Amino acid sequence: MTADAAGAVRDGFRRVHGGSPEGVWAAPGRVNLIGEHTDYNDGFALPMALPQAVVLAARRRGDGLLRLHSAQGGAATAELRVADLAPGATAGWARYPAGVVWALRERGLAVGGADVYLDSTVPAGAGLSSSAALECAVAVAYDGLYGLGLARPELARAAQHAENAYAGVPCGVMDQMASVCCTGGHALHLDSRSLEVRQVPFGLGGHGLRLLVLDTRVRHDLADGAYAALRAGCERAAGLLGLPALRDLDGAGLPSALAALPGELVPLVRHVVTENARVDRAVAELAAGRPEALGPLLTEGHASLRDDYGVSCAETDLAVAAAVAAGALGARMTGGGFGGSVIALVRAGEAAAVAGAVAEAFAAAGHAAPAVLEAVPSPGARRIG
Ligand code: ADP
Ligand code: MG
Repeated sequence: MTADAAGAVRDGFRRVHGGSPEGVWAAPGRVNLIGEHTDYNDGFALPMALPQAVVLAARRRGDGLLRLHSAQGGAATAELRVADLAPGATAGWARYPAGVVWALRERGLAVGGADVYLDSTVPAGAGLSSSAALECAVAVAYDGLYGLGLARPELARAAQHAENAYAGVPCGVMDQMASVCCTGGHALHLDSRSLEVRQVPFGLGGHGLRLLVLDTRVRHDLADGAYAALRAGCERAAGLLGLPALRDLDGAGLPSALAALPGELVPLVRHVVTENARVDRAVAELAAGRPEALGPLLTEGHASLRDDYGVSCAETDLAVAAAVAAGALGARMTGGGFGGSVIALVRAGEAAAVAGAVAEAFAAAGHAAPAVLEAVPSPGARRIG
């Protein structure tokens, strides 16, 4: 994140709130390399932070007001009374940042009001976690402004609590952990139960590889309800198996577990168990210096999300198929599904051809062209000004 970005939000802050902020913070969006729909099963994931981020300028207020302005949030500045924050009390986009302030206060932390101005380069609703970037930017800013000294996993938990209880989205903890814990040049091996993380060196350039993000720009409406139903199905399966979570089932125990479960839960459990194993395999391949071996794991993971978990859609399936047919080493949807983005691991010299082939396939199917970004492993949430 450049000094320019910090300067631009300082200017925005001055225009909207007057005067200068006490600081400027940034929190990134993410792509998840592998380990999808595993976090709420206490499992494993391997996300990396994107260069795209929420940049936020803030200054404490002594009168208990929280004044929120987003460059993407329309002309109005939301004005809320911190003491009145409660789930259900805030509408629209402001429930994400207000929810973080509420979640910090729920933890007994003495935080008050603030003037906030933010701008984001994370496309919203693209499966790249603009919501977690927004929450985590507020969390690190409040941590700095109010001298909270919270550890990174505590910031992520507060941000997740905001999204679950205040914004009403039953997400796991992966997006927030990625946004606060990732470091440049690394993917993040996350244990969603203990919140232990390991930085896994992830350099593609030296291997002649690139990771493309193809944002399909579609988001199907069933996303929220379906997510909650899948999560409930996983919890039910774990309960029937007498396990705390599906994380506690491994490949060796899978056949007998599947034989004991009602048919409708079988594909869900199979996805979660095989997906956790794919995270292990991906980490091992990266440790062995074989990033190209991620390709087949991505494509296998996509098939599992499509056929077993049922969260892909025509557009993401088409992007994956077209990318692989055009020479990508592997590709898969990333994020919760029902639209959003696809990642494709490509040889550097073939990036343009793969992106072009996907655009052509989309045009032939009557879909708008996907937006193309490059996934460069970037730093997590931090103060930048
Ligand atoms: P994703 O996290 O995959 O981008 P979500 O549906 O979880 O998609 O979150 C998108 C929502 O987050 C937006 O509808 C909006 O309410 C909020 N949001 C994200 N970025 C911003 C922003 N820059 N300004 C205001 N609201 C934002
Ligand atoms: Mg989100």
